[in-house]
Amino acid sequence: MKYDCVIIGGGPAGLNAALVLGRARKKVIVIDEGRPRNQVTRESHGFLTRDGIAPSEFRQIAKEQIRAYPTVSFVDDMAISISGSDSEFNIHTAQGLSYPCKKVLFAIGKKDVPLPINGLAEVYGKSAFVCPYCDGWELRDQELVLIVNGARALHLAKMITGWTSQFTICTNGPNEMTQAEKEELMQHNVPIFDSPIRNIASMEGNVQHVELEDGTLIPCTGIFFGPKLVIGSNLPQLLSCDMTESESVVVDSMGKTSVPGVYSAGDAATEMYQVIMAASLGAVAGMCINGELLMEDWHKASN
Ligand SMILES: Cc1cc2nc3c(=O)[nH]c(=O)nc-3n(C[C@H](O)[C@H](O)[C@H](O)COP(=O)(O)OP(=O)(O)OC[C@H]3O[C@@H](n4cnc5c(N)ncnc54)[C@H](O)[C@@H]3O)c2cc1C
Repeated sequence: MKYDCVIIGGGPAGLNAALVLGRARKKVIVIDEGRPRNQVTRESHGFLTRDGIAPSEFRQIAKEQIRAYPTVSFVDDMAISISGSDSEFNIHTAQGLSYPCKKVLFAIGKKDVPLPINGLAEVYGKSAFVCPYCDGWELRDQELVLIVNGARALHLAKMITGWTSQFTICTNGPNEMTQAEKEELMQHNVPIFDSPIRNIASMEGNVQHVELEDGTLIPCTGIFFGPKLVIGSNLPQLLSCDMTESESVVVDSMGKTSVPGVYSAGDAATEMYQVIMAASLGAVAGMCINGELLMEDWHKASN
Protein backbone atom coordinates (compact mmCIF):
# COMPACT_ATOMS: atom_id res chain seq x y z
CA MET A 1 0.00 0.00 0.00
CA LYS A 2 1.23 3.47 -0.82
CA TYR A 3 0.71 6.03 1.94
CA ASP A 4 -0.25 9.61 1.26
CA CYS A 5 2.28 10.63 3.89
CA VAL A 6 4.79 8.94 6.17
CA ILE A 7 5.37 10.93 9.34
CA ILE A 8 8.71 10.15 10.94
CA GLY A 9 8.53 11.02 14.64
CA GLY A 10 5.57 10.68 17.00
CA GLY A 11 6.08 13.65 19.32
CA PRO A 12 3.71 16.64 19.49
CA ALA A 13 4.72 17.78 15.97
CA GLY A 14 4.19 14.43 14.26
CA LEU A 15 1.05 13.63 16.22
CA ASN A 16 -0.66 16.93 15.46
CA ALA A 17 0.18 16.51 11.78
CA ALA A 18 -1.31 12.99 11.95
CA LEU A 19 -4.48 14.38 13.54
CA VAL A 20 -4.93 16.97 10.78
CA LEU A 21 -4.19 14.48 8.01
CA GLY A 22 -6.41 11.78 9.58
CA ARG A 23 -9.32 14.20 9.75
CA ALA A 24 -8.60 15.02 6.11
CA ARG A 25 -8.97 11.28 5.32
CA LYS A 26 -5.37 10.83 4.19
CA LYS A 27 -3.58 7.48 4.51
CA VAL A 28 -0.82 8.14 7.01
CA ILE A 29 1.61 6.12 9.06
CA VAL A 30 3.56 7.51 12.00
CA ILE A 31 6.91 5.78 12.50
CA ASP A 32 8.25 6.50 15.97
CA GLU A 33 11.20 5.08 17.85
CA GLY A 34 9.83 6.63 21.09
CA ARG A 35 12.77 8.69 22.36
CA PRO A 36 11.32 12.22 22.73
CA ARG A 37 13.54 15.00 23.97
CA ASN A 38 11.44 15.65 27.06
CA GLN A 39 11.38 12.03 28.23
CA VAL A 40 13.59 12.98 31.21
CA THR A 41 11.05 15.39 32.61
CA ARG A 42 8.16 14.53 34.93
CA GLU A 43 5.88 17.40 33.94
CA SER A 44 5.43 19.44 30.79
CA HIS A 45 4.21 23.02 31.18
CA GLY A 46 2.75 25.80 29.10
CA PHE A 47 0.33 23.93 26.82
CA LEU A 48 -3.16 25.28 27.44
CA THR A 49 -5.45 22.58 28.98
CA ARG A 50 -2.43 20.30 29.53
CA ASP A 51 -0.27 22.33 31.93
CA GLY A 52 1.75 20.00 34.16
CA ILE A 53 0.97 16.80 32.24
CA ALA A 54 3.53 13.98 32.03
CA PRO A 55 4.99 13.88 28.49
CA SER A 56 4.11 10.17 28.15
CA GLU A 57 0.48 10.87 29.09
CA PHE A 58 0.34 13.71 26.56
CA ARG A 59 1.40 11.33 23.80
CA GLN A 60 -0.96 8.60 24.99
CA ILE A 61 -4.01 10.93 24.97
CA ALA A 62 -2.99 12.24 21.53
CA LYS A 63 -2.76 8.70 20.14
CA GLU A 64 -6.11 7.70 21.66
CA GLN A 65 -7.77 10.69 19.98
CA ILE A 66 -6.06 10.07 16.62
CA ARG A 67 -7.21 6.41 16.66
CA ALA A 68 -10.71 7.76 15.93
CA TYR A 69 -9.45 8.36 12.38
CA PRO A 70 -9.03 4.95 10.69
CA THR A 71 -6.65 6.05 7.93
CA VAL A 72 -3.89 6.76 10.46
CA SER A 73 -1.71 3.99 11.82
CA PHE A 74 1.30 3.87 14.13
CA VAL A 75 4.40 1.72 14.16
CA ASP A 76 7.14 1.49 16.80
CA ASP A 77 10.25 1.44 14.63
CA MET A 78 13.14 3.60 13.52
CA ALA A 79 13.35 5.00 10.00
CA ILE A 80 16.91 4.45 8.85
CA SER A 81 16.94 5.41 5.20
CA ILE A 82 14.87 7.05 2.55
CA SER A 83 14.95 6.81 -1.23
CA GLY A 84 13.02 8.23 -4.19
CA SER A 85 11.59 11.65 -4.84
CA ASP A 86 8.30 13.58 -4.66
CA SER A 87 5.25 11.28 -4.93
CA GLU A 88 7.54 8.21 -5.04
CA PHE A 89 9.36 8.04 -1.70
CA ASN A 90 10.26 4.85 0.12
CA ILE A 91 11.10 4.81 3.82
CA HIS A 92 13.11 1.88 5.16
CA THR A 93 13.16 0.95 8.84
CA ALA A 94 15.41 -0.82 11.33
CA GLN A 95 12.96 -3.75 11.43
CA GLY A 96 13.49 -4.27 7.70
CA LEU A 97 10.15 -2.84 6.56
CA SER A 98 9.52 -0.37 3.73
CA TYR A 99 6.81 2.25 3.51
CA PRO A 100 6.16 3.73 0.05
CA CYS A 101 4.58 7.17 0.18
CA LYS A 102 3.84 10.37 -1.71
CA LYS A 103 4.96 12.88 0.95
CA VAL A 104 7.29 12.74 3.94
CA LEU A 105 7.18 14.73 7.18
CA PHE A 106 10.29 14.84 9.34
CA ALA A 107 9.00 15.42 12.89
CA ILE A 108 12.15 13.90 14.33
CA GLY A 109 12.87 16.47 17.03
CA LYS A 110 16.31 17.24 18.39
CA LYS A 111 18.46 15.31 20.84
CA ASP A 112 20.64 16.57 23.68
CA VAL A 113 24.34 15.83 23.57
CA PRO A 114 24.91 15.08 27.29
CA LEU A 115 27.21 17.57 29.07
CA PRO A 116 30.10 15.65 30.66
CA ILE A 117 29.41 16.84 34.22
CA ASN A 118 29.34 14.37 37.12
CA GLY A 119 25.91 14.20 38.71
CA LEU A 120 24.03 16.12 36.00
CA ALA A 121 22.21 13.07 34.63
CA GLU A 122 20.77 12.37 38.11
CA VAL A 123 19.12 15.80 38.32
CA TYR A 124 18.25 16.44 34.67
CA GLY A 125 14.50 16.84 34.28
CA LYS A 126 13.97 16.78 38.07
CA SER A 127 15.75 19.89 39.35
CA ALA A 128 18.00 20.79 36.39
CA PHE A 129 16.31 22.14 33.30
CA VAL A 130 17.03 23.84 30.01
CA CYS A 131 14.23 26.37 29.56
CA PRO A 132 12.86 28.90 32.06
CA TYR A 133 9.55 29.07 30.20
CA CYS A 134 9.13 25.33 30.75
CA ASP A 135 10.29 25.04 34.36
CA GLY A 136 11.08 28.54 35.71
CA TRP A 137 7.80 28.79 37.62
CA GLU A 138 8.58 25.65 39.64
CA LEU A 139 11.98 27.11 40.61
CA ARG A 140 10.73 30.65 41.30
CA ASP A 141 12.49 32.57 44.10
CA GLN A 142 14.92 29.69 44.63
CA GLU A 143 18.72 29.72 44.67
CA LEU A 144 19.78 28.63 41.21
CA VAL A 145 23.02 27.87 39.41
CA LEU A 146 23.21 28.69 35.71
CA ILE A 147 25.75 26.51 33.93
CA VAL A 148 26.42 28.66 30.94
CA ASN A 149 29.30 30.42 29.18
CA GLY A 150 29.98 32.97 26.44
CA ALA A 151 27.29 35.30 25.12
CA ARG A 152 24.51 32.99 26.30
CA ALA A 153 25.47 33.70 29.93
CA LEU A 154 24.36 37.33 29.93
CA HIS A 155 21.20 36.43 27.99
CA LEU A 156 20.21 33.65 30.41
CA ALA A 157 21.04 35.86 33.42
CA LYS A 158 18.73 38.59 32.14
CA MET A 159 15.98 36.04 31.45
CA ILE A 160 16.18 34.29 34.80
CA THR A 161 15.60 37.53 36.73
CA GLY A 162 11.92 37.10 35.83
CA TRP A 163 11.83 34.04 38.10
CA THR A 164 14.46 34.60 40.80
CA SER A 165 16.98 37.18 41.92
CA GLN A 166 19.21 34.57 43.62
CA PHE A 167 21.44 32.96 41.04
CA THR A 168 25.08 32.24 40.32
CA ILE A 169 26.80 31.60 37.02
CA CYS A 170 29.22 28.67 36.64
CA THR A 171 31.09 28.79 33.34
CA ASN A 172 32.52 25.30 33.99
CA GLY A 173 35.93 26.23 32.59
CA PRO A 174 37.65 29.22 31.00
CA ASN A 175 35.33 32.22 30.90
CA GLU A 176 34.39 32.96 27.27
CA MET A 177 32.42 36.13 27.97
CA THR A 178 33.58 39.48 26.66
CA GLN A 179 34.87 42.06 29.15
CA ALA A 180 31.71 44.10 28.57
CA GLU A 181 29.50 41.08 29.35
CA LYS A 182 31.43 40.34 32.55
CA GLU A 183 31.17 43.97 33.65
CA GLU A 184 27.44 44.07 32.98
CA LEU A 185 26.93 40.95 35.11
CA MET A 186 29.13 42.42 37.88
CA GLN A 187 27.09 45.65 37.85
CA HIS A 188 24.06 43.47 38.58
CA ASN A 189 25.97 41.65 41.38
CA VAL A 190 25.82 38.27 39.64
CA PRO A 191 28.49 35.95 41.10
CA ILE A 192 30.53 34.20 38.37
CA PHE A 193 32.70 31.11 39.00
CA ASP A 194 35.08 29.91 36.29
CA SER A 195 36.47 26.79 37.96
CA PRO A 196 35.33 23.54 36.26
CA ILE A 197 32.52 21.65 37.96
CA ARG A 198 33.69 18.56 39.85
CA ASN A 199 30.27 17.24 40.84
CA ILE A 200 26.59 18.04 41.27
CA ALA A 201 25.41 16.62 44.60
CA SER A 202 21.76 15.59 44.83
CA MET A 203 19.23 13.51 46.72
CA GLU A 204 16.49 11.71 44.77
CA GLY A 205 16.94 14.06 41.84
CA ASN A 206 16.94 17.22 43.95
CA VAL A 207 20.18 19.16 43.58
CA GLN A 208 21.85 20.16 46.85
CA HIS A 209 25.02 21.91 45.76
CA VAL A 210 27.45 22.31 42.90
CA GLU A 211 31.04 21.49 43.77
CA LEU A 212 33.85 23.09 41.79
CA GLU A 213 37.38 21.77 41.13
CA ASP A 214 38.82 24.56 43.32
CA GLY A 215 36.79 23.25 46.28
CA THR A 216 34.03 25.89 46.21
CA LEU A 217 30.58 24.55 47.15
CA ILE A 218 27.61 26.48 45.78
CA PRO A 219 24.36 25.53 47.53
CA CYS A 220 21.34 25.61 45.23
CA THR A 221 17.96 23.97 44.69
CA GLY A 222 17.86 24.21 40.92
CA ILE A 223 19.98 24.45 37.80
CA PHE A 224 19.49 25.78 34.31
CA PHE A 225 21.96 24.88 31.59
CA GLY A 226 22.22 24.97 27.83
CA PRO A 227 22.81 21.56 26.23
CA LYS A 228 24.23 21.17 22.75
CA LEU A 229 21.44 19.96 20.47
CA VAL A 230 21.64 17.85 17.34
CA ILE A 231 18.95 16.89 14.85
CA GLY A 232 17.02 13.76 15.87
CA SER A 233 18.02 11.78 12.76
CA ASN A 234 20.29 12.32 9.78
CA LEU A 235 17.52 11.49 7.27
CA PRO A 236 16.98 15.13 6.19
CA GLN A 237 20.70 15.40 5.37
CA LEU A 238 20.58 12.05 3.52
CA LEU A 239 17.86 13.54 1.36
CA SER A 240 19.95 16.73 0.86
CA CYS A 241 17.50 19.01 2.69
CA ASP A 242 19.02 22.42 3.41
CA MET A 243 20.02 22.71 7.08
CA THR A 244 20.88 25.68 9.32
CA GLU A 245 24.22 25.88 11.17
CA SER A 246 22.42 24.82 14.35
CA GLU A 247 21.13 21.62 12.71
CA SER A 248 17.56 22.69 12.06
CA VAL A 249 15.89 21.71 8.81
CA VAL A 250 15.30 24.85 6.72
CA VAL A 251 11.56 25.23 6.08
CA ASP A 252 9.20 27.90 4.79
CA SER A 253 6.25 29.16 6.83
CA MET A 254 4.23 26.05 5.84
CA GLY A 255 6.91 23.53 6.83
CA LYS A 256 8.15 22.84 3.29
CA THR A 257 11.83 21.92 3.06
CA SER A 258 14.13 22.61 0.12
CA VAL A 259 13.28 19.14 -1.29
CA PRO A 260 9.91 18.81 -3.12
CA GLY A 261 7.39 16.66 -1.25
CA VAL A 262 9.38 16.78 2.00
CA TYR A 263 8.23 18.67 5.08
CA SER A 264 9.57 19.19 8.56
CA ALA A 265 7.98 20.45 11.79
CA GLY A 266 8.62 20.77 15.50
CA ASP A 267 12.01 21.00 17.20
CA ALA A 268 13.61 19.64 14.03
CA ALA A 269 12.66 22.78 12.15
CA THR A 270 12.62 25.56 14.75
CA GLU A 271 14.59 26.77 17.73
CA MET A 272 11.48 27.72 19.73
CA TYR A 273 11.57 24.53 21.77
CA GLN A 274 8.04 24.25 23.12
CA VAL A 275 5.44 21.50 22.88
CA ILE A 276 2.78 23.97 21.75
CA MET A 277 5.06 25.29 19.00
CA ALA A 278 5.87 21.77 17.84
CA ALA A 279 2.20 20.82 17.77
CA SER A 280 1.20 23.98 15.88
CA LEU A 281 3.99 23.59 13.32
CA GLY A 282 2.90 19.96 12.86
CA ALA A 283 -0.67 21.12 12.25
CA VAL A 284 0.49 23.69 9.68
CA ALA A 285 2.62 21.11 7.85
CA GLY A 286 -0.30 18.65 7.92
CA MET A 287 -2.58 21.21 6.26
CA CYS A 288 -0.01 22.06 3.63
CA ILE A 289 0.65 18.39 2.84
CA ASN A 290 -3.09 17.79 2.50
CA GLY A 291 -3.46 20.83 0.24
CA GLU A 292 -0.61 19.67 -1.98
CA LEU A 293 -2.07 16.15 -2.28
CA LEU A 294 -5.51 17.53 -3.15
CA MET A 295 -4.10 19.88 -5.79
CA GLU A 296 -2.09 17.06 -7.38
CA ASP A 297 -5.19 14.84 -7.59
CA TRP A 298 -7.26 17.74 -8.94
CA HIS A 299 -4.79 18.42 -11.75
CA LYS A 300 -4.41 14.71 -12.56
CA ALA A 301 -8.21 14.47 -12.90
CA SER A 302 -8.31 17.41 -15.30
CA ASN A 303 -5.63 15.92 -17.61
C1 LIG B 1 14.11 18.59 30.05
C2 LIG B 1 13.12 19.18 29.10
C3 LIG B 1 11.95 19.72 29.57
C4 LIG B 1 11.05 20.30 28.69
N1 LIG B 1 9.91 20.83 29.21
C5 LIG B 1 9.03 21.41 28.39
C6 LIG B 1 7.85 22.01 28.94
O1 LIG B 1 7.62 21.99 30.15
N2 LIG B 1 7.01 22.62 28.07
C7 LIG B 1 7.24 22.68 26.70
O2 LIG B 1 6.44 23.26 25.99
N3 LIG B 1 8.36 22.11 26.18
C8 LIG B 1 9.25 21.48 26.98
N4 LIG B 1 10.39 20.93 26.45
C9 LIG B 1 10.58 20.98 24.97
C10 LIG B 1 9.77 19.87 24.30
O3 LIG B 1 10.20 18.63 24.78
C11 LIG B 1 9.98 19.90 22.78
O4 LIG B 1 9.80 21.21 22.27
C12 LIG B 1 8.98 18.96 22.09
O5 LIG B 1 9.08 17.65 22.61
C13 LIG B 1 9.24 18.93 20.58
O6 LIG B 1 8.34 18.06 19.96
P1 LIG B 1 8.74 17.29 18.61
O7 LIG B 1 7.55 16.52 18.22
O8 LIG B 1 9.33 18.26 17.65
O9 LIG B 1 9.95 16.33 19.04
P2 LIG B 1 10.01 15.15 20.11
O10 LIG B 1 8.96 15.32 21.16
O11 LIG B 1 11.43 15.08 20.57
O12 LIG B 1 9.62 13.86 19.28
C14 LIG B 1 10.41 13.43 18.21
C15 LIG B 1 10.18 11.93 18.05
O13 LIG B 1 10.78 11.49 16.83
C16 LIG B 1 11.41 10.26 17.08
N5 LIG B 1 12.40 10.00 16.03
C17 LIG B 1 13.52 10.71 15.71
N6 LIG B 1 14.17 10.14 14.67
C18 LIG B 1 13.43 9.06 14.32
C19 LIG B 1 13.59 8.06 13.31
N7 LIG B 1 14.61 8.08 12.46
N8 LIG B 1 12.66 7.09 13.23
C20 LIG B 1 11.60 7.05 14.07
N9 LIG B 1 11.41 7.97 15.05
C21 LIG B 1 12.31 8.97 15.16
C22 LIG B 1 12.00 10.43 18.46
O14 LIG B 1 12.36 9.21 19.07
C23 LIG B 1 10.84 11.14 19.17
O15 LIG B 1 9.91 10.19 19.70
C24 LIG B 1 11.32 20.34 27.30
C25 LIG B 1 12.50 19.77 26.80
C26 LIG B 1 13.40 19.21 27.69
C27 LIG B 1 14.67 18.64 27.15
